[in-house]
Amino acid sequence: MPTTTHISGLRLTRHVARLLEVRDRLALYVTERESHNLDDAHDVFMAMVAVEDQLAVQAPQVHARLVAAWATAHEAIAHEPGEFNARCGTCCGASARPKAESGAAVMVNRAAGDRASRPCVCHGTVSMVTPGG
Ligand SMILES: [Zn+2]
Ligand SMILES: [Zn+2]
Repeated sequence: MPTTTHISGLRLTRHVARLLEVRDRLALYVTERESHNLDDAHDVFMAMVAVEDQLAVQAPQVHARLVAAWATAHEAIAHEPGEFNARCGTCCGASARPKAESGAAVMVNRAAGDRASRPCVCHGTVSMVTPGG
C-alpha cells in the first residue's frame, strides 16, 4: 500500500480530481493496450490500480460511487487484437508504430503529463466527479 496522508478541503478536491483524471487516462491506455495485445498492458493496469487505491483512501465515497462505472467506461474503445476500432486511439493515431511508446513508465508519465490531448469517450461523465458532489 502506498503511504498517503489525509488532506481536506479544496486541496482534497483538486487532488481527487487529478487522481480521477490520471486514473481515467490509465484505464483508457489499459483498454487500448489489451486490445492490441501489447506486453505492458498488465503493468499499466497495476499502475491504474495503485491510483485507485489512493482514491479509496483519500475519497472512499467517490471511489465507491464510481467503481462500478469504471468497469465499463471504455467498452466502446475495446476491440479484439487485429481488429480496427475508430474510437481506439492506438488504431487511429499510432497504427503505424503501435509499440513505439510501450512501457508502463512511459504510459504513467503520459497519463500524468498529458492534459487531455486525446478526448476520452467517458470523459466528463464518470471521470470528473468531485467529492461530496
Ligand atoms: Zn485499437
Ligand atoms: Zn475515460
